[in-house]
Amino acid sequence: MVIFHMKSYKGMPVSKGIVIGKVYKYSKKSALIESYQIDVEEIAEELERFREAKEIAHQTLLHIKEKASQDLGENQAQIFNAYIHMLNDPVFSERIQGLISEERLNVEGAIQKALAELSEKFRRLDNDYIQERLRDIEDVLSHLLRALQGSANSLSNLPENSIIVAEDLTPSEIALIDKELLKGFVLRQGGMTSHTSIVARSLGIPAIINVDERIMDEVKNGEVIILDAIKGEVYVSPEREILERYRKKICILKKREEELLGLSQEEAITRDGHRIKLAANINSLAELDAVRRVNGDGIGLLRTEFLFLRREHLFDEERQFKIYKKVVEKMEGRPVVIRLLDIGGDKDLPYFEAPREINPFLGWRGIRVSLERQDIFKSQLRALLRASHYGDISILIPFISSIEELREVKGIIIEVKNELEQENIPYNRQIKIGLMIEIPSTAIMADAFAREVDFFSIGTNDLIQYTIAVDRNNSRIASLYTPFHPAVLKLIHQVVRAARAERIGVSVCGEAAANKYLLPVFVAMGITELSMSSGYILETKKLIRKLNKGELGQLLDKVMEMNQATEIENYLKRYMEALLGARNGGSNGSRHEKE
Ligand code: PEP
Ligand code: MG
Repeated sequence: MVIFHMKSYKGMPVSKGIVIGKVYKYSKKSALIESYQIDVEEIAEELERFREAKEIAHQTLLHIKEKASQDLGENQAQIFNAYIHMLNDPVFSERIQGLISEERLNVEGAIQKALAELSEKFRRLDNDYIQERLRDIEDVLSHLLRALQGSANSLSNLPENSIIVAEDLTPSEIALIDKELLKGFVLRQGGMTSHTSIVARSLGIPAIINVDERIMDEVKNGEVIILDAIKGEVYVSPEREILERYRKKICILKKREEELLGLSQEEAITRDGHRIKLAANINSLAELDAVRRVNGDGIGLLRTEFLFLRREHLFDEERQFKIYKKVVEKMEGRPVVIRLLDIGGDKDLPYFEAPREINPFLGWRGIRVSLERQDIFKSQLRALLRASHYGDISILIPFISSIEELREVKGIIIEVKNELEQENIPYNRQIKIGLMIEIPSTAIMADAFAREVDFFSIGTNDLIQYTIAVDRNNSRIASLYTPFHPAVLKLIHQVVRAARAERIGVSVCGEAAANKYLLPVFVAMGITELSMSSGYILETKKLIRKLNKGELGQLLDKVMEMNQATEIENYLKRYMEALLGARNGGSNGSRHEKE
């Protein structure tokens, strides 16, 4: 029996929460099976790894069997019973244990050798049935090896309660994961507003990034892991007292969440009567229930590109129409803002051929793709316009950098509307068209843009990276990526003033919308709508109900005079702490601090 010593690591929390689960290491390299000699002292540890891998493979096979019986029927699922039986066959286990203890092979080496021996024996028997069984055994062993290493394709069949430990994950890799089995992410790379972090937040899955690189070598599959994505701490093979302490913390958090739910029917209104709309950002239909649970004021941003990540192709018009119609119907009259496809940057669709670029975030992205691929663009517009007949849909245009581009898009929208007229297909003729403000040139020209559209939605995630030239995904410079930068706040202020002068709506839909320290600044500027992951709506509502807009003018003036991000951040933190201390007894919940 091997005693694991507790290991602890620090990182940056990007999706709040605390969970306890089992380590599941994921590596992009296809499982490289290394066979090597071990020292005598390592025998016990390898035997333990074998035992744990068998347990994980057993659980995985049970899970696959259950899925197969739901999808294919009981009969087809029987094969997995045979697999489970093989996995637990004592003769086979004894042979592997023997190879570890006597020949001093590592587990992976022992499994490969046992398989080679079996293949050799079976191959001599020229019998189809036996050859079939050999393939079964190979399949079982591949589960065992995956349990030991975590291989490239293994995201689609995680064991239960997995906390994934990986260098990085892309949104399309996350799409492969069965979310029922996943409890959290611990990643080496990423940024607060990388799409991986955004997806984790929308799904309500706790995640931390920028974790010490030692973690990849030091932890093993199946080890118990505590992920504290509030403080940014990870404990692997924790001592009993720590485990107990964290179980209690989880209970307290659950209670707090339930208490917050009590606010779902209250209004997000300041103490002096200013109502702020709190809408939800969603990336999939599965998130609609969570939006309804917290009683969000509609959908402020539906990122349509995420709907197509898991598929092997972009949906045709008909499929898209059905999806958009379903969203508005499920929102029962509440407004739904649907953003046109924004692929590129870190949002690659695996099947969509895009050129390799040195600077993908400055390249063929968002509206630039749509304007070139008008076949794709028009089928999305047709689907959206058709769905607008069934509820309150607005169209949001991403990644616009010039008036010419916007006018070209508006021209295509008119063309598509005319087509629908000719075909007698109903759509909302007054459908609102909004613009993402996420590129500095657009923010600077906001007064001109405000005359061209019905509303602005400020995408701080990109606006920050382009304004201060800090890649939103690069963990190495994550500390430079700050929404408190005075240049960013000046641009936002300018955009809000331009929108108000033209009397068009203006909201913030980037991650900064859920930043509690920026909340008084946004309210003071006159922003009346914020859109965020649904998990942050109630906490934001709680804070709005403590603010007094009339008192915030001075705060805004002060902030706008400051020249340094740290100065602004510290000032706003002190303001919020004083406010909460004075009105709430000090507790400020668990929001991510550095957005
Ligand atoms: C943004 O840029 O702020 C935004 C909301 O869009 P995305 O995160 O999808 O780029
Ligand atoms: Mg963006």
